[in-house]
Amino acid sequence: MKLFQFISDDSKTHIGIELEGKSYNFTKLTTGSITSLQSMIEEGLFDVDYINNIIESVKDSLSDYEIESSVNFDVPISNPQKILCYGVNYVAHAEEGNNPIPDEPILFAKTNNTLLPHNGVITFPKSIGRVDHEIELGVVIGKDGKNIPEEKAMEYVAGYTIINDISARKMQIDDLGKGHPWLRSKSYDTFCPVGPYLIPASEISDPQNIDLTLKINGEVKQQSNTVRMIFKIPKLINFASEIMTLKAGDIICTGTPSGISEIVDGDVVTCELSEIGLLSNSVKSV
Ligand code: ZN
Repeated sequence: MKLFQFISDDSKTHIGIELEGKSYNFTKLTTGSITSLQSMIEEGLFDVDYINNIIESVKDSLSDYEIESSVNFDVPISNPQKILCYGVNYVAHAEEGNNPIPDEPILFAKTNNTLLPHNGVITFPKSIGRVDHEIELGVVIGKDGKNIPEEKAMEYVAGYTIINDISARKMQIDDLGKGHPWLRSKSYDTFCPVGPYLIPASEISDPQNIDLTLKINGEVKQQSNTVRMIFKIPKLINFASEIMTLKAGDIICTGTPSGISEIVDGDVVTCELSEIGLLSNSVKSV
C-alpha cells in the first residue's frame, strides 16, 4: 500500500493510493472529506486498518475511482512544522568528508520552502559553486511527542518516504570554515525533493534494512543500506524529542551514505529505496 498526493486537473490536491499496481483517488473514496496526508496523520487516520475499511466499503465499485498511474505528483507532506536532518550518520560518508565518527547525533534543519515533488526541478544559481545530492530515508512523525524514549520511538512513526537532501557543498564548507551555521547551504528553494510515496510504517518489513540507490543520468553514485546508519531511527527520534516537541507530520531526514557528488544543469537524479519507490528530479542551474 502506497499513499501519495497529486494535483488534479482542477488544480486541487487529492490523496491517491496505489494497491497492487493500480492507483485510485482516495480523496474521492472518502467523498472529499480527506484532502491531505498531513491532516490524515494529524487526525490519527493514517492507519492501514482504517484505510482498508474504506477500500472494503467500496470494493464492488473500486474501479470507478481508478486514476492514471502517471499523475501530477505533489509532495506527500505539504507543510510540516519541521524538517529535521541528521548529518554524518553513515561511517563511509564520515570518511569521505574527512569527518570523525560522531559520538552523538548531529542535528540540523532545512526550511519548508525547500520541499519539491517527484518530477520537480532542482534549481539554483550557478554562482554558488558545487551542489551535491544526498539520498536519505525520510521518517514522517505520526503523533506529537516530547522526551520520547528509544524503546517507544517507533510508535511515533507514521510512515517512510524518500528524501534527496540537496546541499550547496562549497557554500557549506566555506561557512563551516568561518564558524558560521550551514542553514543557507541546505535551504535554497527546491533543495528537498521528497516522495512521491508515503508508506505506512506497518507496511515496511524493517526500516533498518532498506536499500538506497542514487543515480545521475542512469549512473549509480550512491548505493548502501539503512542498516549502516550509525545512530538508528529510535535514537534519532529520541535525540530530537529531548530538545523540541515533535509534531505529527514532521519529517526527519536520517542522513546520507557515501558517494555524494555534484549535480549540474541538465542532470536527472533518481533516488530509489527498496519497498518505498523512486523519486526523480531534473536539475537546472541559472
Ligand atoms: Zn543529509
